[in-house]
Amino acid sequence: MEANKVYVLPDLPYGYNDLEPYISEQQLRIHHDKHHLTYVNGANATFEKLDAARKSNADVDVKATLKELSFNIGGHVLHKLFWPTMAPAGKGGGGAPKGKLAAAINEEFGSFDRFKAEFSKAAATTEGSGWAALALDKLTDRPIIMQIEKHNVNVYPNFRIVMVLDVWEHAYYLDYKNERPKFVDAFWNIVNWEMVNERFEDVLECSCAIT
Ligand code: MN
Repeated sequence: MEANKVYVLPDLPYGYNDLEPYISEQQLRIHHDKHHLTYVNGANATFEKLDAARKSNADVDVKATLKELSFNIGGHVLHKLFWPTMAPAGKGGGGAPKGKLAAAINEEFGSFDRFKAEFSKAAATTEGSGWAALALDKLTDRPIIMQIEKHNVNVYPNFRIVMVLDVWEHAYYLDYKNERPKFVDAFWNIVNWEMVNERFEDVLECSCAIT
């Protein structure tokens, strides 16, 4: 397979212990090095099978393969967004939204506190394994919270995601056991608002509306 056609595990933009005490080194290592890698390998392996079947014109279970691809690519993309969504507390992490994102959050939700409460509730109540995400609807330029189940269920087509929180048990179980809401509370101390705003402004200004 061509090198530029495979998915690659990105390095973390900080050290493994830099998000402590909110996410422990052990938790972050397993999450990044094992879980994220599984989706990268899964997506690449699925494409290898698909490529081989196409080459030999062999039968392939299209439904199962597309389901597998959606799950693994979704997992990879969301984790790739997740790592830079965070930064060490006090060194880029924590505080309040910045720039046009801050204005959009105030306009849409009334206040940062109200947004935080809605996003936290979305994260705490995502059924089973999943994510809370903030996306921008380019049809209306309204920010909207998505409650993604697994890596790919409940996703709004073509809405651009600017911020994600992983609430799979593998994201927090070593540190917080079954207490997902405690992990969600801790997350606010390490949100990299500069990065989230940068993504938000990029999407706001891009000519990527649905036509
Ligand atoms: Mn994860």
